[in-house]
Amino acid sequence: MIRYYSTNRSLEGVAGLTPFKGRVSFREALIQGQAPDEGLFMPEPIPALALDDILALKGVPYAQTALLVAEAFLKDELPREALKKIVEDSYNFDVPLERVFDRMVVMRLDRGPTASFKDFAARMMARLMSRLRDGGKRLNVLVATSGDTGSAVGEAFKGVEGMGVYILYPRNEVSGMQKKQLDTIGDNVLALSVDGKFDDCQNLVKQAFSDPGLSHLNLTSANSINFGRILPQSIYYIYAYAQLAGKGEEIVFSVPSGNFGNALGCEYARRMGLPVRMLVMPTNENDEFPNYLRTGVYEKVSPSRACLSNAMNVGHPSNLARFFELYGGTVDRTGVVHAYPDLEEMRRRIFSVSVSDEETKETIRRVWDRHRVLLEPHGAVGWRGLELYLDACRAPVAGPCVSLETAHPAKFPDEIIELTGIIPEVPQSMRDLETRTGAPVELPADYGRLRAFLLDTLKGTD
Ligand SMILES: *Cc1c(COP(=O)(O)O)cnc(C)c1O
Repeated sequence: MIRYYSTNRSLEGVAGLTPFKGRVSFREALIQGQAPDEGLFMPEPIPALALDDILALKGVPYAQTALLVAEAFLKDELPREALKKIVEDSYNFDVPLERVFDRMVVMRLDRGPTASFKDFAARMMARLMSRLRDGGKRLNVLVATSGDTGSAVGEAFKGVEGMGVYILYPRNEVSGMQKKQLDTIGDNVLALSVDGKFDDCQNLVKQAFSDPGLSHLNLTSANSINFGRILPQSIYYIYAYAQLAGKGEEIVFSVPSGNFGNALGCEYARRMGLPVRMLVMPTNENDEFPNYLRTGVYEKVSPSRACLSNAMNVGHPSNLARFFELYGGTVDRTGVVHAYPDLEEMRRRIFSVSVSDEETKETIRRVWDRHRVLLEPHGAVGWRGLELYLDACRAPVAGPCVSLETAHPAKFPDEIIELTGIIPEVPQSMRDLETRTGAPVELPADYGRLRAFLLDTLKGTD
């Protein structure tokens, strides 16, 4: 049986922290989100996939790969038929593998309802939560967002049975388009426009979770550290390998990284048995991780630096705790290292570099000019990281090399037009946005008001 333990389980003698020594099921890890000691849940053992089962997925729809991985983790907790329905409902869009030249490929994870790779994780997590919720009672997701994550989560839960979603966002810190995206999801998803900053929204959500007077409301989170969001992010690596590699080959992935949840999916895929030659993890100018791999000393970037690839403006990645744990170290939420991991082993498996905004722009322009392949800022960081890895390799790399495109270029029209002279085609999901209507609930940054709102809105909904 796979059980989930906390990354903080051995943190003795830290003020205000009681290490959680227990082990929980996937279901508990999913609904609780975080361990009671604020550590991150880790699966043990990591299930193994047979290489022949992976290779047999060549030419087969994406949902089949998802089913293979979901079964490996969840066969003790959900029947195959239920898992099959969950993955088929979750993955009803394309996953293009676009050849750039030779065996260099861009995997486009931007065809979901919010044109971001976060759709992959959020959609499957939403359906798992609906299926695994307690005794069929309504489960209410409360999230704070600074923009894109909230809409991916909201869209993912839209219309999902037994779920309600409340998204808090800072009124004056989201773009006009993000606001529209959040306000108009509708159905069982409601936006709360807060007169405050992102930190205020996060604090309001935190207070609600720790308020015993709200425990009967069945509140849960859906943030990026939930293992229910990591698991689906291991699937596309296995999918890409099955489509692109031959027996006996190794593959290279480059994953533009912020909170490291996406790259962690690749790390788990490798540990499940996928022949990954190297996991490349380029960051933008928030260079705490490449600096650590170079020097062996970890120092978070605080405050984080504002870069063009804005979904990666993270100075201390929340999933770094899981990477450290997997390599034998411990780092806490605040960025304090309690035990360093095996640096040599990490360097053998992971290559990381920082890509500046200048290089990001140059990459968008050059890849378009030379190959007629359109990248946006996050994908360009990924591509540049892959190039720098290949430059650093002494011997040529024979197997496929895949860089991930995590957002749709149409989300960055100004940069794309300036750098390439072309107007990116807007996907249907973004075009539909113009005709959508809906209004948020307006709230001050005051916990008493949020509390009253939740008690009033959610009474009698179960
Ligand atoms: C969230 C996000 C990332 C970073 O992913 P992490 O899992 O946080 O490393 C990269 N690109 C886009 C477009 C994102 O939305």
